[in-house]
Amino acid sequence: MRIATAKASPAKQASAPRAGMDPRRTAVLEHDLRFDGKFVYAVKTTGVYCRPSCPARPRPENVVIYDTCDEAERAGFRACKRYHPKQSTFRKEAHA
Ligand SMILES: [Zn+2]
Repeated sequence: MRIATAKASPAKQASAPRAGMDPRRTAVLEHDLRFDGKFVYAVKTTGVYCRPSCPARPRPENVVIYDTCDEAERAGFRACKRYHPKQSTFRKEAHA
C-alpha cells in the first residue's frame, strides 16, 4: 500500500508587510476589504480618493492616506466614481 506523502505546505504569505511600511499602504496595494471604512486613500496623480478595496492600482509613491473622506476632500481630492468611498454600506459587486 502506498502512503501519500503529501507535504502539508503552510499557506504562504504572499506579501509580508515590510518593516517600516504603514500597514494601511499595504492594505491599499492589496485592496484589502477589511480596511474599508477605516480610512481612505488618495492618489496624488489623479486627484481621486477611494476606499482601500478599490481595484485601482496606484503607484505606492503616489498614495496618500487619510483617516476620513472629509480630510481627503479638504485636501482637494474627489471621491472615486466607481467605488464611492463615502458609502459605508454598499452593494457588493463582483470584482472580476
Ligand atoms: Zn475607486
